[in-house]
Amino acid sequence: MKYALVTGGSRGIGRAISLSLSRMQYHVIINYVNNDEEAAITLQQIESEGNQASLMKFDVASLEQVESVLGTWMEENPDNLIEVLVNNAGIRKDALLMWMKDEEWFDVMNTNMNSFFYITRKLIKNMLVNRYGRIINIVSLSGIKGLPGQVNYSAAKAAVIGATKALAQEVGKKNVTVNAVAPGYIRTDMTKDLDEKALKAMIPMDRFGKPEEVSELVAFLASDKASYLTGEVISVNGGLYT
Ligand code: NAP
Repeated sequence: MKYALVTGGSRGIGRAISLSLSRMQYHVIINYVNNDEEAAITLQQIESEGNQASLMKFDVASLEQVESVLGTWMEENPDNLIEVLVNNAGIRKDALLMWMKDEEWFDVMNTNMNSFFYITRKLIKNMLVNRYGRIINIVSLSGIKGLPGQVNYSAAKAAVIGATKALAQEVGKKNVTVNAVAPGYIRTDMTKDLDEKALKAMIPMDRFGKPEEVSELVAFLASDKASYLTGEVISVNGGLYT
């Protein structure tokens, strides 16, 4: 059985990605940090379709937790190769830069950017040795065009876009691809405080997207079919000009 790790797989876009990858016969490791109930629902949905998954609770922003929880799993399961990594866990803590608190900056950088480093570094060696791997980073429209009130989030996502392009060049020779997916406005807990009615006026498709509209692209990038596609940032945003 081959494994896929989806960070932030308990809810929203991560849940849809976990479901999509499980349908590709991956055993999906669903990472999350707090919400046991939602994580259990994702696991149950996958199992009810006859596919396999398991839960792995750790804070992606904590190097110590990544090393202890993910590291221990790797030591105890030397034959279970994580072939697909989706760096999806993310948070936003919006504020105008002038008023931004230290923790609003550092929490967003740690969760959205440093997590990429901690987890990808940990998994990439086995992908290189195995000469196959798929890394998909969920970034954002904000990381491409920048959004006011989100200097922290835009900076973190832009950093991951740069990292995606650089890492793709490091590992392409070994058949490991690295791509980024940049959603626009997708209906999840993260966007439930936004005024969809007002914002959709800017979106050519006149609505927020659904998590499944992101996860289908991620599934393609995770598949064999995307074998010559690397270092790209693909937007899923209903036509919002970026
Ligand atoms: P969401 O509904 O708020 O879900 C966030 C997920 O990330 C949850 O599974 C949560 O786990 C997990 N998570 C948060 N902090 C974590 C941490 N420190 N360690 C481990 N897991 C953590 O968010 P979403 O809308 O699905 O967003 C998913 C990704 O898409 C994020 O990277 C986000 O920046 C990006 N994105 C979203 C949109 C959008 O419109 N929704 C647009 C552009 C980009 P718990 O359930 O345990 O809290």
